[in-house]
Amino acid sequence: VNGHDAEHEALERELAEFTGRERALLFSTGYMANLGVVGAFADRDDLILEDRLNHASLLDAGLLARTRAFERYAHCDADAAAAALRAQHEARPNASAMLVTDGVFSMDGDLAPLPQLAAATRAYRQWLVVDDAHGFGVLGKTGGGCCEHFGLGADDIPLLVGTLGKAFGTFGAFVAGDAAYLELLMQRARTYIYTTALPPAVAAATRVALRLLRTEHWRRERLHAHIQRFRDAARRRGLPLADSPTAIQPVIIGSARDALTASRTLADAGFRIVAIRPPTVPAGSARLRVTLSATH
Ligand SMILES: *Cc1c(COP(=O)(O)O)cnc(C)c1O
Repeated sequence: VNGHDAEHEALERELAEFTGRERALLFSTGYMANLGVVGAFADRDDLILEDRLNHASLLDAGLLARTRAFERYAHCDADAAAAALRAQHEARPNASAMLVTDGVFSMDGDLAPLPQLAAATRAYRQWLVVDDAHGFGVLGKTGGGCCEHFGLGADDIPLLVGTLGKAFGTFGAFVAGDAAYLELLMQRARTYIYTTALPPAVAAATRVALRLLRTEHWRRERLHAHIQRFRDAARRRGLPLADSPTAIQPVIIGSARDALTASRTLADAGFRIVAIRPPTVPAGSARLRVTLSATH
């Protein structure tokens, strides 16, 4: 009802400029931003298409939107996504589809094939929503995330989600896009309307985080040096590595019990590395989720 203050306003303006979009809207958490954006733009007759390994909040958003169809395609399979869009286009030329994906997958650290996904959604004039929670501040020459990494703009990715609790180090989330879309989002997203706004102090802290992210490039360079060092050393020791250029470097162990034992052994040696087990990841792929940071 009331709670949008000057700090929120300034942060939204700065996030819009940072992402190269007309406007940005703050949400209280990334989970709520994802429920909000999918729910606001998906109508009852629509198809929602998601990568199988999307973050739980995006998968929940797809379920809660209660559209005619909700399909998941094989991880990073842009051809499968394009085929689903084509099938829908042929069967229901007037219905809309929304393709939803993580930019960086949160348990694997790999990147979505965004140029191919954007080409497919553009070809069928459908929506593409990208949640770049782990890309902002990490990927791209200036920390602009997946869009900067791949050289994609607002025409390719009309709705872009970012969270503030990862590289920004504060709390909350935002959606960025064209002004008309964002106006509709503000009017329709129940997770924006029916909850308390972020405290202004958090918005103010995030403005500082954004300034540091944009000016102190040594942080990102240091992080990437750590990532390189970790991958080189793991390779020398014959550890299985994922195809990840990001701060998330999973080491697949297999059984949940072995992953837990490894995590505890590492804890005794002074390393805080969480074991991720099913159902957060598929059965048989329990892992150590190594997460590197510029402060290491
Ligand atoms: C962390 C994360 C979220 C959730 O963000 P919160 O602000 O913690 O609710 C959503 N999507 C992805 C990909 C994430 O990594």
